[in-house]
Amino acid sequence: MPEGDSIFRAAARLNEALAGQVITASDFRVPRFATLNLAGWTMTEVVPRGKHLLMRLVGPVDEEPGASRKPRALTIHSHLKMEGNWMIYQPGGRWTKPGHTARCILRTAVADAVGFSLGILEVVPTAEEEKIVGHLGPDLLGPDWDEEEALRRLLAEPDVPVGYALLDQRKLAGIGNIYRCDSCFLSGVHPALPVGQVPDLAKIVRDAKRLLGENLGPGRRSTLGPRAMRPGYWVYGRTRQPCRRCGTPVQHDVLAAPDGTEERDIYFCPRCQPAP
Ligand SMILES: [Zn+2]
Repeated sequence: MPEGDSIFRAAARLNEALAGQVITASDFRVPRFATLNLAGWTMTEVVPRGKHLLMRLVGPVDEEPGASRKPRALTIHSHLKMEGNWMIYQPGGRWTKPGHTARCILRTAVADAVGFSLGILEVVPTAEEEKIVGHLGPDLLGPDWDEEEALRRLLAEPDVPVGYALLDQRKLAGIGNIYRCDSCFLSGVHPALPVGQVPDLAKIVRDAKRLLGENLGPGRRSTLGPRAMRPGYWVYGRTRQPCRRCGTPVQHDVLAAPDGTEERDIYFCPRCQPAP
């Protein structure tokens, strides 16, 4: 699952390349939209919302007599899930990923954007975007970030393990496994602790937001802060390596969803983050 900062960066790159550009050819390689042709439409902006990417377009004005002069507005909604990626190429440029994994191709005079292995790809009227992303909790990287509301949503189910609640995009949007694990570590909280028992939940949320914010630029992702000697993580992916604070080997385990339907990897220091 991608972190919100990957989506934020992808949206920024796509927006810089495509905003204001007219689509000269489009190709949707999913059955539902295989016949959709957005040639002549203008990309107005590309915005991230949690882990969702929204490309907004306005249609050409219909010249038919009697037709409405109001511009039509559509949104290409995509979600990268595990493997997805949007790449930008020179017009007609050679792709760097296998062609059979391309799901959406948008050509303009200045750049081609190709979405590979997208987990979700659909086109909806812009007016209906809320149906897609309206369920999301406050976006940690969004202009409308609301910490109080995020805490309220997290604490509405106090028995859910904090490590699970932080990934629930309906409570707050943007945290993936890396920032989930490392923000729990920074507070000395085991991911299995019920969220209602976390001594300072606001600190965990603020740390996750700070870590996302520190990783919006180019360069390798890191949770160790801008002054670290080299990029890296506190505990994520560091099974059996020494804890950076106490030297105890970092442990790997799985944390099941409260309803037992899914399990996700967790990493923690058994000394700094005692099991509940
Ligand atoms: Zn430790």
